[in-house]
Amino acid sequence: MKYKNRIRSRIANLKDSKNPDLRKNVLCGAITPEQIAVMSSEEMASNELKEMRKAMTKAAIQEHQMAKTGGTQTDLFSCGKCKKKNCTYTQVQTRSADEPMTTFVVCNECGNRWKFC
Ligand SMILES: [Zn+2]
Repeated sequence: MKYKNRIRSRIANLKDSKNPDLRKNVLCGAITPEQIAVMSSEEMASNELKEMRKAMTKAAIQEHQMAKTGGTQTDLFSCGKCKKKNCTYTQVQTRSADEPMTTFVVCNECGNRWKFC
């Protein structure tokens, strides 16, 4: 059963129209059949998919940081969606310490989120 699933996942990855690089690499011999047999789905994933996963992880971290700090309620910002001035903001050091803080703002009225540096 496990073996069958492994084969299925390889076929799915090779057929994936969003992942032409994998197919190309196998066809031109850059990846041998022996290599693809032991590749994890992470290794087979297209660059596009990898970027998407990375962005999702980053967003999850930011969300986590925001939840942790709670944020400060303010009427300094007005929401781009509902134009109300009921927002919560959090400042997070996303990159290295010598770079300016990123400010995350959440609208308490409609849940709209945005950020600026
Ligand atoms: Zn809003």
